[in-house]
Amino acid sequence: MKKYILNLLFMVTVCAGHLSGVQSDDVFPRVPFDRYQLHDEMTQMLEAWQRLYPRLIKIHSIGKSYQGKALWILEVTNFDTDPGEDKPAFWADGGTHPDEPCGTPMVMHTAQVLLLGFGKDPFITELMNTRVFYILPKVNPDGVDYYLSQPGMISHAMPWDDDGDGLIDEDPPEDLDGDGAITVMRIRDVTGPLKTSPLDKRLLTVRDETERGEFRTIVEGIDNDGDGRFNEDDMGGINVNRNYPYEWNPAQRGAGAHPLSIPESRAVVEFFARHPNITGAYSVHGGGWPVDFLLRPPANVPDEALPDSDLDVYDTMIEQFREMTQGTLVEGLYYDTIMGNRRRPGPYGFGLFFTWAYHHYGVFAFTPEMCGIDADVDKDGRVSEMEMLRWSDKEKDGRYYADWKPFDHPQLGRVEIGGWIKKIAPIDAGLQKICEQYTEFNLYQASLSPRIRIHSTECTRISDDVYKVQATIANDGFLPTYISQAALQVNKDYPIIVTVKTENGSVVLGKTRSILGHLEGSKADSPGYFLFAGGSAPLPSKSIEWVIKTDKKEAQPSVEIIASCAKGGKDIAMLELRDD
Ligand SMILES: [Zn+2]
Repeated sequence: MKKYILNLLFMVTVCAGHLSGVQSDDVFPRVPFDRYQLHDEMTQMLEAWQRLYPRLIKIHSIGKSYQGKALWILEVTNFDTDPGEDKPAFWADGGTHPDEPCGTPMVMHTAQVLLLGFGKDPFITELMNTRVFYILPKVNPDGVDYYLSQPGMISHAMPWDDDGDGLIDEDPPEDLDGDGAITVMRIRDVTGPLKTSPLDKRLLTVRDETERGEFRTIVEGIDNDGDGRFNEDDMGGINVNRNYPYEWNPAQRGAGAHPLSIPESRAVVEFFARHPNITGAYSVHGGGWPVDFLLRPPANVPDEALPDSDLDVYDTMIEQFREMTQGTLVEGLYYDTIMGNRRRPGPYGFGLFFTWAYHHYGVFAFTPEMCGIDADVDKDGRVSEMEMLRWSDKEKDGRYYADWKPFDHPQLGRVEIGGWIKKIAPIDAGLQKICEQYTEFNLYQASLSPRIRIHSTECTRISDDVYKVQATIANDGFLPTYISQAALQVNKDYPIIVTVKTENGSVVLGKTRSILGHLEGSKADSPGYFLFAGGSAPLPSKSIEWVIKTDKKEAQPSVEIIASCAKGGKDIAMLELRDD
């Protein structure tokens, strides 16, 4: 009934908008697919969303980037039901690695679909009524803005001595030919390791030991500090996704001085610590790898290190993701991580977000590496340089490869500048398609959270003024209330708490606040979209009883029962004390 009334209220609001000639959807600024937004433009769009849908989205700053930009979190839910912190939550972020900008529009697109679909699409409406989304579109706004507005790219803005020479950021690359991109300089050298490729004269390839060399290459720039090395200490150098606490390793390149040494990773972890209601997490990466892949824990040890039941849940989710991305996805695993043209066996990386979110926080977390360029013409699972070049020439008007042009270098003499323009990120119909697929998966995973309900209540009169009250608490969500075995291992599981309050009576047997422990999820018979899956099996449930003595002189003695669980939301039942 409560929901029905809310839906009516929503319709009244929409009608009022219509009468005044303004339809929110018509003026709603949509996520662009033809360009990436700088932080200021994105901020204006988020503020407009909040103005148009103040009951569905709140924008909060959870801290400031190193250069002082607000780290915006979008809290998206129907605030007319319960507040966000009383609902199971789903986390999605983008913009961690500046050269992988597609995560930002992907997670913002999820928010857009939720806002525009509420009240129209039953699945989205139910999700908004019962779940909350925390979306951080740009984890690293300084780095992303630099990438979008400068020829080069940086990993993070905080100064860092990459080459350990005691000087900081003293030798960055330069866009010497002024074409707006940092590419490569090739220098004629008979001892060099490279020769012209027989497949296309623009490409270079490694020569045989018996052959004469033609070229050596250096990244475009000058040797600013005169140490004989070029571009060895660019601005910044810390990798945000190597700065998280789990398995943090000082020997890992980009790890930083200590875990959470930069404001962005620190703000994320502190937000999680304040929000035990988060039940699943996505950190979207991807800047045009040849294939899409999905990283999940463990990152550095074989799969056997994970509890079987957690692996089963991951398998279920990944199967769904494969279907939604139409099989273009490769799962990134230990010993078999496919990155670009290289197979890189062994440990993947330390101090990562998704391993932290799983092993330390206890939720099923992924890093999807999306926006693959789909250029594997011969379908051998790899994309060769020749395939990339053909793709750039034919489908992208050649914009990802700069032909070689002579340049008089102040230190090296005559060189040629050209080669791959590394800023490969889809900005076209491909981006729209991938945003739509990704959003579908995001909504699916959010729908898997546990959700506790007061399934039934019963009241029996035992004597004149004494009643027995019984409540059955059920979990109608796919996941258990503890989420994962990983959460149990690190004590990051939060039990169900049941409290009872009486009006004109008192509890004489049973506790006014009981810890009910956990409820399993109903995952066994409900694959797919759980919210509407139904299923014939009884819901996992537990019952609890109280004996309540009423004050006879007062009319209408009543009881309020509240069941809550950090990751399973909250439900309230009111009952009047009389014989059922
Ligand atoms: Zn990345």
